[in-house]
Amino acid sequence: MNTILTFWFFALGAAVGSFLNVCIYRLPRDKSVNDPPRSFCPSCGHQLSWFDNIPLVSFFLLGRCCRHCGLLISWRYVLVETLTACLFALLYIRCNTWEGARWGVLMAYCVLIAALIASTFIDAEFFIIPDIITLPLALAGILWCGFFPELQTAPAFGEQAHISRGLAMYGRQANLGGFISAAISVAISGGVVYGLRAIGTLIFKREAMGIGDVKLMMMVGALLGWKLAICAFFIAPFFGVMFGIRQLITRKQSEMPYGPHLAAATILVMFFQDAVLPRFENYARAMAQLFQMIAGR
Ligand SMILES: [Zn+2]
Repeated sequence: MNTILTFWFFALGAAVGSFLNVCIYRLPRDKSVNDPPRSFCPSCGHQLSWFDNIPLVSFFLLGRCCRHCGLLISWRYVLVETLTACLFALLYIRCNTWEGARWGVLMAYCVLIAALIASTFIDAEFFIIPDIITLPLALAGILWCGFFPELQTAPAFGEQAHISRGLAMYGRQANLGGFISAAISVAISGGVVYGLRAIGTLIFKREAMGIGDVKLMMMVGALLGWKLAICAFFIAPFFGVMFGIRQLITRKQSEMPYGPHLAAATILVMFFQDAVLPRFENYARAMAQLFQMIAGR
């Protein structure tokens, strides 16, 4: 682990977080993210000069207020920047412990984290996850896996494991294997979530999950592989339970967006894939044996 690089990833995360704040504000309001190119105060429209726009720093230097009209700036801005900065730095530290992870894995995971943070804050406020975040990334993820097939076999397990875990079935064509696996992963994670959503809608007689959540999981499948995507999908309700308890305590009744829970679960399985994946495979094997026993009778 390199201290300077860790700090560099923290700074990169803060800068990316600053851009995410722009996306979180503008995308659900159908505004362009690069026009106007500079950030502006949502109240008086005053454009920020560069020294008022330094991630993390300016927020505190300005004392949470717009220099022009004195509008109180939301804590969300500094929260998004801090969260992105910390996750990027932690991810860099984590990736260093995985021998099978090349730089392309680190990059892909950084992009995925950024997309999940933007989706989380937009979904929490507007109950939508914009397609412009999820669909292009699902497609780009499939292509990216052609260059870095280890993304599809969980990079935490190293070079040897990639061969034993299935990419070898494409022979020496590991790149083609990564590309095909990613396309299959997108289809499986999207299909499973879509199917369960349809069943849920039938049972509860109202929309169980947004179609945006299905597309979010397609993006996750493209970059984490379908197994980790399904793990994240089944871990997400536990975050939902925590949200529900908080609602019971604060006695605030509101509809629950599902995107933030999927995002939190995805980041959890990304960081702890070496703990999650073997358990998932054992569990799946046990379930398969159980079905065989029942069918064998
Ligand atoms: Zn202002």
